[in-house]
Amino acid sequence: MPVLFVSHGAPTFALEPGEIGARLRTLGATLAPRTEAVVVLSPHWATPALAITAAAAPATIHDFGGFDPALYRLRYPAPGAPALAAEVRDRLVAAGIGASLDPRRGFDHGAWVPLMHLFPAADRPVLQLSMPVDLDPRGAFALGRALSPLRERGVLLVGSGSLTHNLYELRSPGAPAAETARAFAEWIAAAVAAGDTEALIDYRRRAPQAERAHPTEEHYLPLPFAAGAANPTEVARRIDGGVTYGVLSMDAYVWGGVDAAG
Ligand code: ZN
Repeated sequence: MPVLFVSHGAPTFALEPGEIGARLRTLGATLAPRTEAVVVLSPHWATPALAITAAAAPATIHDFGGFDPALYRLRYPAPGAPALAAEVRDRLVAAGIGASLDPRRGFDHGAWVPLMHLFPAADRPVLQLSMPVDLDPRGAFALGRALSPLRERGVLLVGSGSLTHNLYELRSPGAPAAETARAFAEWIAAAVAAGDTEALIDYRRRAPQAERAHPTEEHYLPLPFAAGAANPTEVARRIDGGVTYGVLSMDAYVWGGVDAAG
C-alpha cells in the first residue's frame, strides 16, 4: 500500500472539497479495493503518550466551534478495527514506543474530514493514533518507520496535517496565496522529491519561513510520520492542493505505487 500525507486545512474542507478533494476522491477510488484498513495520525487528539482508538464503532467528533451548522451534522461511520488496534499497540511497544488502547475515543476532524473525500462510503475500517504532546519530527519519523510493515498487509497509513498552518494570518477563503506559504510548500516539495528525510526532520532550521508556516509543529508532524513509513527508494508524488485562506497549503503526498489522481 502507498503512504499518504494529506492536508485537512480547515473543517470547511468537508463541505468544500474543491480540486484537492476531487483528487483525493480519485486516489481513494484507486486504493479502496486493496485497502484492508486505514491508520491515521491527526494532530487534534493530543495525549501525554500515544493512544489508539479501539472502539468497534468510533463516534464522529465535531471538535471545532463557530462553523456552518451543516458541518456538525456530518458523520463518518467507518468501523473501527479493535484487533488491529491491539496489534498496532504491540508493534509500537516492541519498537520502544509507549502506546495504549482507548476504547471510547472517536474520530476527530483531522481524521474524518480527509477520509470523507478519500473513502466517501466509510466502509474501510479506521484507526486513529493520537499525537503525543512531546512528539518531534524525529519521533514522528520513527513512528512511521515502526508502522511501515503494516503496509504489506493492506493497511493505508495516513498522516493528516496541513502543509502550512498559520491560523494567525488566515485570510478570506479564496485569497491569493501568501508568498511565505508558497515558499515553504515549494521547499518541502523539493525536499520530498529528493528523498531528503533529514531535511524534512530538520525543517525548522532549514526551510524558509518555517516558523511562520508552522507557529506550532503539530500540523507539520504528520509529514515526517508519512515519510518515515515510506521506503527509502520510494519517490513521492505531490498532489498539488493549492493554498486556501491565503496561508493553508493543501498539498498532499503519496509514496508508493499508484498511478491515478495526478
Ligand atoms: Zn487541523
